[in-house]
Amino acid sequence: MSKSINILIVGGGLAGLSSAIALAKDGFSVTLIEANFYDSFRVGEHLSPDALNILEEFGVSKSLYQSSPTITSIWGDTKLYTSNYIFSIYGNGVALWRPKFDFELAQIAKQNGVKIEIGCRLQELSFSDKNWSASIFDKKQNRRYKINADFIIDASGRSRVVSKKLGISSLTYDKLIGLGYIQDRKNEYHNPIIEAVAEGWWYSANLPNNRNFTMLLTDSDLLPPTLERKKFWLNSLQNTIEIKKRFSLNSQIKINGYQANTTRVLQSCGEQWLAIGDAVMSFDPLSSGGIAKALHFSQEISMWVKKFLNNKKEAQESYREKIRKNLLSYFESRSKYYRIESRFSSEIFWYRRHLPHIIEQPIRLPPKVKLQLSLTYNEKSLKHFFNGIAPKIDTKHFFKVTSKPKAVIDLLSDLQTGQSYGYPNQEKIAILQLLVREGCLQLAN
Ligand SMILES: Cc1cc2nc3c(=O)[nH]c(=O)nc-3n(C[C@H](O)[C@H](O)[C@H](O)COP(=O)(O)OP(=O)(O)OC[C@H]3O[C@@H](n4cnc5c(N)ncnc54)[C@H](O)[C@@H]3O)c2cc1C
Repeated sequence: MSKSINILIVGGGLAGLSSAIALAKDGFSVTLIEANFYDSFRVGEHLSPDALNILEEFGVSKSLYQSSPTITSIWGDTKLYTSNYIFSIYGNGVALWRPKFDFELAQIAKQNGVKIEIGCRLQELSFSDKNWSASIFDKKQNRRYKINADFIIDASGRSRVVSKKLGISSLTYDKLIGLGYIQDRKNEYHNPIIEAVAEGWWYSANLPNNRNFTMLLTDSDLLPPTLERKKFWLNSLQNTIEIKKRFSLNSQIKINGYQANTTRVLQSCGEQWLAIGDAVMSFDPLSSGGIAKALHFSQEISMWVKKFLNNKKEAQESYREKIRKNLLSYFESRSKYYRIESRFSSEIFWYRRHLPHIIEQPIRLPPKVKLQLSLTYNEKSLKHFFNGIAPKIDTKHFFKVTSKPKAVIDLLSDLQTGQSYGYPNQEKIAILQLLVREGCLQLAN
């Protein structure tokens, strides 16, 4: 059956490439388009040991990664903690140089029969008579062409091009951003280290090819204007205990920004398509699990595609259920880890992360209870709050609809029609509950 099924994968990051290899090995006819040329830096350089067996199975040469046996942290107090993988049955974690690593994985995909089209970007997409037609732009040849497919996989990472073309929106849960700098390694090799500071946390790792990547993770709305960011970054670096010692200061520091917020697509699959990797949900890099998650999923992809082709509705429901469980367990472990750090609880960055998340919180607010904005809250403080849990909320509109007492049930429909907030009702109720807990909304008569 699988030989005659044409699959188009959009995006050649680790999710797209590993799934392409697995599907081709299983006899599907796979085309993968990748917009770039694997010639520039990609984030995601640490891989936990439990996913290494998948790389071995694919035949990835060990010379492409470097053993990284421990992770060091200063988190919760000023002491340096080292957790190592000694007790892992899988061995050590590894550090990757992603451009080369991804390029080599693309070569392995080719050897397994995947048609890889580099420098090709999805532009248009249509579905009729159970067939996809994709319009692609080939940058190198400067031409447009079409691909037909029976099944399409969105592996385009945070850009989520397939779901966007299908009109599906995404939700964001915070404003985390990474400000990172890559430099030649001047110091001795060191394992990855993370360190909490008042305005966020730092990450530094030495990479293969004698490079070092050092990054500050903070919220984008807490940053000064662009021209002052380098100074902010260097000042924050000075607040670290350990990372500043491992960083070679030089005059050419050039800082790049990387989106690192938690997001999810509202609909992860549909008839003859599904989204994988960051195209489904993107996690805070603190979880350090995006790559392993993508590699592990490649082991299941054939099963899902077959299920989708055989039993459409049920397969879609069980895929959504799987995503829902993953998201919930991610939010729970993210909350747990951020709460270990209590030295900076009063700082906005940490206050936001110590709040309960809004996913599947039990509903306690009776629908008829009336709520009103507390007088002590203004639009600015409300915005600060929303940026930590649900930045898509339009503060102005929210401020307006809560300025007079209103029943929860009416508020929900106001928040539905007033602006397209996108958050499902259960998440909106969780937001209202949190606002009551924080004293921002008050019970009214
Ligand atoms: C700052 C930061 C640090 C991180 N560190 C780690 C880490 O140490 N360990 C870890 O496990 N995870 C880490 N992650 C997460 C990890 O990088 C991601 O989870 C992982 O790379 C996701 O892989 P992906 O294939 O789903 O998406 P991506 O790697 O984003 O790949 C998507 C691909 O789609 C292509 N594409 C986009 N649009 C189109 C289009 N229109 N047509 C064709 N192709 C297109 C892009 O060029 C890209 O190659 C980090 C994330 C961030 C933000």
